[in-house]
Amino acid sequence: MGTIQMVDLHRQYSRLKAEIDAAMQEVVESTAFINGPQVGAFASHLAEYMHVPHVVPCGNGTDALLVALMSLGLKPGDEVIVPSFSYVAAAEMVALLGLIPVWLDVDERTFNLNPWQIESAVSPKTRAIIVVHLFGQCCDMEEVCKIAEQNHLFVIEDNAQSLGAEVIYSDGNRLKAGTIGQIGTTSFFPSKPLACFGDGGALMTSDDWLSTRIKMVANHGQQVKYQHKIVGVNSRLDTLQAAVLNAKLPHLEEFAASRRKVARRYDEAFGNDERWTIPYQAPYSTHVYHQYTLQVAGNRRDDLQQYLKSKGIPSMVYYPIPLHKQPAFYGFSRNGSSLNVSEHLVTSVLSLPIHTEMTDDEIDYLIETVCSYGK
Ligand SMILES: *Cc1c(COP(=O)(O)O)cnc(C)c1O
Repeated sequence: MGTIQMVDLHRQYSRLKAEIDAAMQEVVESTAFINGPQVGAFASHLAEYMHVPHVVPCGNGTDALLVALMSLGLKPGDEVIVPSFSYVAAAEMVALLGLIPVWLDVDERTFNLNPWQIESAVSPKTRAIIVVHLFGQCCDMEEVCKIAEQNHLFVIEDNAQSLGAEVIYSDGNRLKAGTIGQIGTTSFFPSKPLACFGDGGALMTSDDWLSTRIKMVANHGQQVKYQHKIVGVNSRLDTLQAAVLNAKLPHLEEFAASRRKVARRYDEAFGNDERWTIPYQAPYSTHVYHQYTLQVAGNRRDDLQQYLKSKGIPSMVYYPIPLHKQPAFYGFSRNGSSLNVSEHLVTSVLSLPIHTEMTDDEIDYLIETVCSYGK
């Protein structure tokens, strides 16, 4: 048995080495490092996979959020609703543009924002909501979109952690996460569900006008070279990264399936145990298990983490501080709801290793070790 890692990038590379090396070598030989044909090809392949008309690659997942907000033409002082239990990027890009983050609490079963609280967070200045599909599972998009529409809010989906997950509608229809709001964003950071060998990201939309805006914003506000209609940024996906992504995209469903297999083993082993709660499977979403996150009871999270570490098993706390308690946002944000769940989750969550290359031996050892805690 090898060393258990949160995500085993090396083993995945070894398995796909022939395809990836050939794709990268082709770019190197062509020297088309910026906007080579692989970038456009990847955008088309991803659009086809997602069933969405437009995919615009960009530099990383944080840029994708920045470009999304800039494309919607929001003005300084406008408010954007964001979850307080989340990664920092969405709220950070909101604040960077002089917009006001409005914190919303999350549902303690799903870790995703609670649609029923959106309405009370809305003020006359609220223009948009950024939903984050956290840990591999979608928000309740049917409800989110209904409420957003009634309140004239744009919906941006931060889909960095849930690429490939599907929203299941009450009529049984399914749509890929990231294709439902006005704009979806994602990241191809090396640990994400679809990952490249460095930084990468993308935006997706069904709106032709917005796709034009997004391309302009990501390219210095120009459609024609040296004619700058609006202020933009430079955010591109490297051709080398696009080549890696082209090689990996056909495996994305298989990646999700192997993670689900690990999650099922964990569920069986850790379910119905009062020492912790296993991840909840929402009826309105599939789960791609970007993280497998336990909620540990009785303030024993840190103790369990130490114990696992002593047995050679890594684990992570995503996230240790709710965003509304981060000094970066003091004085530049407002609470849209009580944030009790976020404040509790930061003390109880623990994410266990889960990845596409876990062996049965590793899963067995992890299960045995977690179950032996406190015995
Ligand atoms: C990783 C991540 C991002 C940022 O992506 P980068 O490519 O690292 O900029 C944004 N939002 C969420 C939810 C993430 O997990």
